[in-house]
Amino acid sequence: MSTTIKEEKETASLLDSTQVVIKEALDKLGYSEEVFELLKEPLRMLTVRIPIKMDDNTTKIFTGYRAQHNDAVGPTKGGIRFHPEVDEEEVKALSMWMSLKCGIVNLPYGGGKGGIICDPRQMSIGELERLSRGYVRAISQIVGPTKDIPAPDVYTNSQIMAWMMDEYSRIREHDSPGFITGKPLVLGGSHGREKATAQGVTICIEEAAKRKGIELKGARIIVQGFGNAGSFLAKFMHDAGAKVIGISDAYGAIYNQDGLDIDYLLDKRDSFGTVTTLFDHTITNQELLEQDCDILVPAAISNQITKENAHLIKAQIVVEAANGPTTLEATKILTERNVLLVPDVLASSGGVTVSYFEWVQNNQGYYWEDEEVQTKLKALLVNSFNQIYEMSETRKVDMRLAAYMVGVRKMAEASIFRGWV
Ligand code: NAD
Repeated sequence: MSTTIKEEKETASLLDSTQVVIKEALDKLGYSEEVFELLKEPLRMLTVRIPIKMDDNTTKIFTGYRAQHNDAVGPTKGGIRFHPEVDEEEVKALSMWMSLKCGIVNLPYGGGKGGIICDPRQMSIGELERLSRGYVRAISQIVGPTKDIPAPDVYTNSQIMAWMMDEYSRIREHDSPGFITGKPLVLGGSHGREKATAQGVTICIEEAAKRKGIELKGARIIVQGFGNAGSFLAKFMHDAGAKVIGISDAYGAIYNQDGLDIDYLLDKRDSFGTVTTLFDHTITNQELLEQDCDILVPAAISNQITKENAHLIKAQIVVEAANGPTTLEATKILTERNVLLVPDVLASSGGVTVSYFEWVQNNQGYYWEDEEVQTKLKALLVNSFNQIYEMSETRKVDMRLAAYMVGVRKMAEASIFRGWV
């Protein structure tokens, strides 16, 4: 699965806090109340009920959602998560985050998101395939390569994308690789998709380190979480000559001022990103966040840096690989303490950027080498970082608000040009 998080739900008030910052960003940019009314919730939210024949011959009805936040800029885009805790409000908020990410990287998309209430860990492969196909049949009217393009998210992977693409192609009666991204390479997937999020985080770390005058070679880095995002990132940092001095998983953290043996840890971790259980001497995740370091990367779950511990963070740079690891109060405290915070909507946008590259390659039927993907990803993200940093400096706002201002601007402008507000 693309992500195997065990914690599970993002924050309860994700929608509220997203709306608060969007409102603040629109106000700062001078947009009217009507623009906020338009952007404060998705334009469309489809709820579907999907009957699936289970292996024991009973029929189970699953509930699924697809939210399309705003398609003024272009088709909507965003992942589909399979999770027991998926709910309407979460899907709505996540579609809005996708809009912001697409705006930040200047992709020709608005945000979308989907989810099905289910526990894929308790389902057979056959049941998962029938559910994936059933979901596509249920939402087929509102999705498509020029309408809304799904992708993997929590507990969905390239196999699920392949089934969904096949089902959509059958419905439309022609091959439609551009319907969905995150596919296996042989079905039109892109090089670099799996490591894209960590690559994006790496680019943000490089740029933030330059701003703080920190030499990456020898810099002391702590990474919370050792799953897809955290483990690739630890490897990239290690290869860049940085000293990864702490990592963690759901069970605890390991820390060594002289640097950890990342290759050993990568070799030993399991498919859920667990490795600390092999060590006798561990510290807690909270203790890890407070250790002395230059760069801290929360890459696990939400709400890790709060008003309770923000003043104890010693890092000069915090780069949010995870979704929502820092609360709005903690953002304020860190900014006041002159910590350079690179917000999630920028730092974790590498995934959607390479998804966009996949869609472009599908549309043109011409595929790029990994190097070309990396070069293009770097160019886009460096540009986004610079824009947000400059916005933060010139408008004297924190990096999160600056990122929202950059992210929401194009969408607001496109909605006005279309005459929607
Ligand atoms: P993952 O499931 O592969 O790994 C999660 C890691 O966090 C594991 O090491 C797990 O042990 C650890 N963890 C789980 N609960 C924890 C807890 N309570 N305390 C400390 N650690 C805990 O997930 P991932 O794909 O690496 O995603 C990590 C974060 O990055 C999530 O917030 C996700 O939404 C975000 N993100 C991921 C991607 C991506 O492409 N993978 C893209 C954008 C955002």
